[in-house]
Amino acid sequence: GHAMSGFLNYLYARMYEGELWLRFEDTDPRKVRPEYYESFRKGYRWLGIEWDHEKNNSDDMELFYKYAEQLIKAAKAYVCTCPPEKIRKLRALGEECEHRAQGVDENLHLWNEMLAGAFREGEAILRLIGDMKHQNTTLRDPALFRIIEHPHPLTGNRYRVWPLYDFAVSIEDHLCGVTHVLRTSEFALRDELQNYIRSLLGMDRNPIYIEYSRFEFKGTPVSKRKLRAILEAGMAAGWDDPRFPTIEGIKRRGILPEAIREFTITQTGFSYAKREYDWSLLFAINRRILDPRARRFFFVPNPVKLIVRNAPKLTIEAPYHPEKKELGVRRLTAAGEFYIAGEDSAKIKIGEIIRLKYLMNVRITGKEGEAVSAEFSGTEVKKDVKIIQWVPVGESIEVKVLVPGPLYLNGDINPESLKIVTGVGETAIKDIAVDEIVQFERFGFCRRDSEDEYVFIKAHD
Ligand SMILES: [Zn+2]
Repeated sequence: GHAMSGFLNYLYARMYEGELWLRFEDTDPRKVRPEYYESFRKGYRWLGIEWDHEKNNSDDMELFYKYAEQLIKAAKAYVCTCPPEKIRKLRALGEECEHRAQGVDENLHLWNEMLAGAFREGEAILRLIGDMKHQNTTLRDPALFRIIEHPHPLTGNRYRVWPLYDFAVSIEDHLCGVTHVLRTSEFALRDELQNYIRSLLGMDRNPIYIEYSRFEFKGTPVSKRKLRAILEAGMAAGWDDPRFPTIEGIKRRGILPEAIREFTITQTGFSYAKREYDWSLLFAINRRILDPRARRFFFVPNPVKLIVRNAPKLTIEAPYHPEKKELGVRRLTAAGEFYIAGEDSAKIKIGEIIRLKYLMNVRITGKEGEAVSAEFSGTEVKKDVKIIQWVPVGESIEVKVLVPGPLYLNGDINPESLKIVTGVGETAIKDIAVDEIVQFERFGFCRRDSEDEYVFIKAHD
């Protein structure tokens, strides 16, 4: 979501020779963690998004207070000490509370008390005088400031009265000279409120809002709330979980920034209708970009032994890529004992001839328990023979691949959304750098995830 929104903003800014702001909406200290800022910057940099300006809303607290006082003095805001349930109820009914009638002096006094710490969290808010009967309920005397007793990663305990999103954004869009806002449509109702706040403060230029439906992928919740619930239930270790639709998550899965860019341009648009994208579309683009450049390796999942009688001892050079000779070769030495995939072993029949890729043909002679036996059947390439990947016994390493699946299936949490496939791989796998995305032949494209172990994450087939 952030990735695609970021791209749309970036591309439109470039297309119209505009300038792009990266602004951190960080006026809810409970929701902002110290790593929030850098993880956004890192993610956008990785995507190739360049921004021209950057600021944090929390830098302007004194200014927000000044504008709050201006509204109070103009009799456009009041301090309300109603309990939250009462406020909710009256807003739904379209009725005013007794605090709306307070005089300016009384409101100024209470506001200063709020700032000075006379009220605890939840005991008082500053509300806009809107219209309690307005069709657009965001205009029914919305809260502009509330007390949050929680340290902020940038300002610590210096402030306890924090502006709400709409108030901060109204002012910041003006200060930043924002002319166009491209954002998802769940904010659509707020435009009117933000324009109204600006008009009360004498800020006469409103941005043009371009809204589009939120980017959702099948089986993947996009809301922070749902993802946090999955984290808190211990189903995922962090925001960079490869099943998550976060920038860190898709990066870790092995999706390339170019693929996200192409997907955003070709598949999305300024549509108001809710659309659910299929991951397979993004994977297809990613695969097309990776295919000509990813090195190939042999990985054998759920290995079974294959013993070949009369097999000569051979050393072969297998290309890292069938077409890109410049990617080089790796050397494989094999005698008569191999690992092959459990799935292949289950399917092959006695009497069948199969080819061990780049090496030799074998005729299957028996399947006894956990092992398959065969006899050597020449090295020449034969037509219509099944070709499988293999790893020599004695020259193998243990490899683990995490296979992410959908977090939700038919609306329920999918208990098997992350599968772990273990197997063996050829020793050349040791040279794969962390973050390199390779193709494990007949298995899929995988990104090396760990420095110390041979752990990979499967991006897709
Ligand atoms: Zn009240």
